[in-house]
Amino acid sequence: MRNNYHTHTGRCLHAYGSDEEYVMKAIESGMSELGFSDHGPFPDHDYGLRMQYSELDSYLRTVDVLNNKYRDRIKLFKGLEIEYYPSYNDYYRLLLDEKKLDYLALGAHSFYDRNGEFRNIFFAGSTDEIEDYSANICSAIETGFFTFVAHPDILFINNLPIDQKVRNACTRIIDCAAEHDMILEYNANGYRRERRLYPDGFRYPYPHPFFWEEAAKRNIRVIIGSDCHAPDQVYDESFTYAERKAEELGLNLIDSIF
Ligand SMILES: [Zn+2]
Ligand SMILES: [Zn+2]
Repeated sequence: MRNNYHTHTGRCLHAYGSDEEYVMKAIESGMSELGFSDHGPFPDHDYGLRMQYSELDSYLRTVDVLNNKYRDRIKLFKGLEIEYYPSYNDYYRLLLDEKKLDYLALGAHSFYDRNGEFRNIFFAGSTDEIEDYSANICSAIETGFFTFVAHPDILFINNLPIDQKVRNACTRIIDCAAEHDMILEYNANGYRRERRLYPDGFRYPYPHPFFWEEAAKRNIRVIIGSDCHAPDQVYDESFTYAERKAEELGLNLIDSIF
């Protein structure tokens, strides 16, 4: 039985259900640990599709209350899925040291490219951007603020060929994870998205075997992430499918990030 450390809440405005329903689903599924990792806010800027900074304290209190209420049945953890922007290093420290978060998951949905332009990985226009994305992930890993990298292969959602730059980007992320003993997340949410034709064939946007076959060779620690945006997704058929695929790939699956 796997645990899940990638759980959203209604605060990000694109997830559904109450916090308690996610906990009850995790208990029903037999999990012993559940980590909340809603899309993290920044104090002075709203990057969109995330909780408001003003909600952060009540989010953390709610997880504490639920952890206490269900303590005989499950252990809950307080996390955030958050992007890495180097100018916020003090903020990540504050989250961990003062706000007492149990972990940060790197969710590199957006980043700044080599020219200092703000980019979204869901809409990469060229494989140069993919390279810059991998650079962002590596700088994030090197800070030590993050416990795992969420969907490190989300770059394959783009309708781009797997050229040398994409291959380099994957190698760079995998090398960096191996060097820093970073946990990578095999993300089940990619299997909830539509399968379609890409330059390399008909497939799900992610997880992509090209990336994970390389990760398997390096024996990197891997978790399955539900990335649930509704209580029914905490442990659904996409999660078990991801689990099966990851096992077939021979990935070094671990049950807990702690
Ligand atoms: Zn989301
Ligand atoms: Zn997520």
